[in-house]
Amino acid sequence: MHILHTAKFLKSAASLRDMPADQGREVAFAGRSNAGKSSALNAMAAHKGLARVSKTPGRTQLLNVFVLDDDRRLVDLPGYGYAKVSKAERAQWAPLIEEYLGRRQHVCTVVMLVESRVVGSHDAETIQWLRAIGYDPVVVATKADKLKASERVTALRRLEDVLGMTGNLTAYSSMTGEGRERLWSALKGRCRT
Ligand code: GDP
Repeated sequence: MHILHTAKFLKSAASLRDMPADQGREVAFAGRSNAGKSSALNAMAAHKGLARVSKTPGRTQLLNVFVLDDDRRLVDLPGYGYAKVSKAERAQWAPLIEEYLGRRQHVCTVVMLVESRVVGSHDAETIQWLRAIGYDPVVVATKADKLKASERVTALRRLEDVLGMTGNLTAYSSMTGEGRERLWSALKGRCRT
């Protein structure tokens, strides 16, 4: 994968049946709302405003599909809420995400966005769950520009501890461009493109 300027919004899907044909390669983006998912998607697609559509009322609980070309897509998964996720809220997004990740055959990887300064146990649980269903997510710590130079190393290490991973976190900032190349190479590695 490399940066393409031709990324386009294709559709919002409420179920697997609404999704385009299950072929080619698809990268799914997961993360809490406000984690910086839209900003990252826009940066990946080199297309400001592309992911704004994912925030349109009515679309926040759907699978929003962006097409890079005939063979490659980015799928924005519903963002789950802040801090404690209520049962009602989970009931809204969980079945769709579970159906999508559990049954879709051509998801080459999941990018899991966590906010550098606001990571919580729920993010750790989500990563564990992704692993349990067979994904090895690319974990991206967003808004890395907000970490002070003096606290950076410690903060990132602490984050890795909370998330139960060692040395594999990509510090990322849509503002400075940090981490973008690393994220692209991680996707290249997993999606063989
Ligand atoms: P989403 O809800 O996960 O799609 O998050 P958005 O991409 O809309 O970002 C939420 C807020 O965080 C917005 O106010 C963004 O401007 C801000 N934001 C996103 N990425 C960054 C970043 O890399 N650095 C900083 N400082 N702010 C960011």
